[in-house]
Amino acid sequence: MMHKLTVAELSKGLKNKEFSSVELTEHFLSRINQSDLNAFITVTDDLALDQARAADEKIANGNAGILTGIPYAHKDIFCTTGVKTSAGSKILDPFISPYDATVSHKLNSADMVMLGKANMDELAMGSSNEKSYYGPVKNPWNKNKVPGGSSGGSAAAVAGRLSPFATGTDTGGSIRQPASLCGITGIKPTYGRVSRYGMIAYASSLDQAGPLTQTAEDAALVMNVMAGFDDKDSTSVDRAVPDYTKNLGNSIEGLKIGLPKEFFSEGLDSGVAETIMAAVKEFEAMGASVQEISLPNSAHAIPTYYIVAPCECSSNLSRLDGVRYGYRCEDPKDLEDLYLRSRSEGFGAEVKRRIMIGAYALSAGYYDAYYLKAQKVRHLISEDFKKAFQDVDVIMGPVSPTTAFDLGSFTDSVSMYLADIYTLSLNLAGLPGMSIPAGFSNNMPVGLQLIGNYWSEELLLNAAHQFQAQTDWHAQMPEGV
Ligand code: GLN
Repeated sequence: MMHKLTVAELSKGLKNKEFSSVELTEHFLSRINQSDLNAFITVTDDLALDQARAADEKIANGNAGILTGIPYAHKDIFCTTGVKTSAGSKILDPFISPYDATVSHKLNSADMVMLGKANMDELAMGSSNEKSYYGPVKNPWNKNKVPGGSSGGSAAAVAGRLSPFATGTDTGGSIRQPASLCGITGIKPTYGRVSRYGMIAYASSLDQAGPLTQTAEDAALVMNVMAGFDDKDSTSVDRAVPDYTKNLGNSIEGLKIGLPKEFFSEGLDSGVAETIMAAVKEFEAMGASVQEISLPNSAHAIPTYYIVAPCECSSNLSRLDGVRYGYRCEDPKDLEDLYLRSRSEGFGAEVKRRIMIGAYALSAGYYDAYYLKAQKVRHLISEDFKKAFQDVDVIMGPVSPTTAFDLGSFTDSVSMYLADIYTLSLNLAGLPGMSIPAGFSNNMPVGLQLIGNYWSEELLLNAAHQFQAQTDWHAQMPEGV
């Protein structure tokens, strides 16, 4: 039963010696080993048990912190010393990181126990976790459906109770969308809040790490550790980290909620729309006020994102060339053959597509027409939010236009890109956003999206926590868990 507990509950259980970290870790490891979700690329049994023993010692000596001895799944995009960091790609399959990402370092310093590295779409590109070199991840609510992506292994691990908490990264929705599709809580912080150092880069101006958990309270506990300035990341912002748990209990009476009319138009599944509206009513019942707002440039988020992100990835991924680290082809004839074949054999189709789109859009003849234009529209999208936040405190809407889709149902990339319609714009603006369980449609979970102004993580977590105090959607579990 330990696996059903939240991080906050586990923390108390450890402190009160109801169980040890070793017992807890063994319990989760055995659940992972019996699971058929394919949520992990690497399971780090020995390391986890070493960390758990060290944590138990700290607990026994009275030196434990709040997260000491709590197991977690680490998205395989974060570098971890001595452990494979593949980012879901064949090209990094041989890569054993010689150093820790700042997030890895921070979680280690909090004495947390890493169970393993979670499966993900190759190099964080995708919305279904079907693009991993290590095979698709299954949705614990229905194993014929996708868990969402790219942090699909992380979301499936938490929803399937294989781990109480998992890390994720969100470039265009990869924390919020899998959280939504798997019925758990996920927060994508303000750009610059969590260090990107040691996180395999996809699109550097958009990437941001955050936690996936059962509850907002757990997300707050973990954010206390993950967030903070890092001089190793030039885009990290030097701003004090509040105690994210402090305001969770505040009343949300008077909270002004905006519903963007563009988020409730054509293409939104009616069951999802009803679930979202019922959740919004719940906020009204708690004393929030609701008004319609407009984000007029919403329709441009997909084309803008799918220019900016491929441009940045085509540049970031040039370092994976078969020379420095990662996969190298057999018997290269000469240097050009080595580059060509290592990259051709090492990258999957979706990654290659994006590198090509990016290289094309950045080329001298097309730069102004595509990249520069996309940057201008990006600015307009940010301005829409700026205006909206003059009138409201939090923007709410769906995360995804549908619930989890069947494995294998997207046969072309563009239809998959279209499913990102509600998540991309806030990454383009750098804003924080959350997904919280809001109900079910067709027996599959629906996530409510909360979007806040810059640095409003405390408010988002507070609103989410208040909602979770009134509802029990977050406590629902897939059958058989
Ligand atoms: N689905 C989006 C993409 O494929 C977002 C991925 C992400 O946030 N890492 O780019």
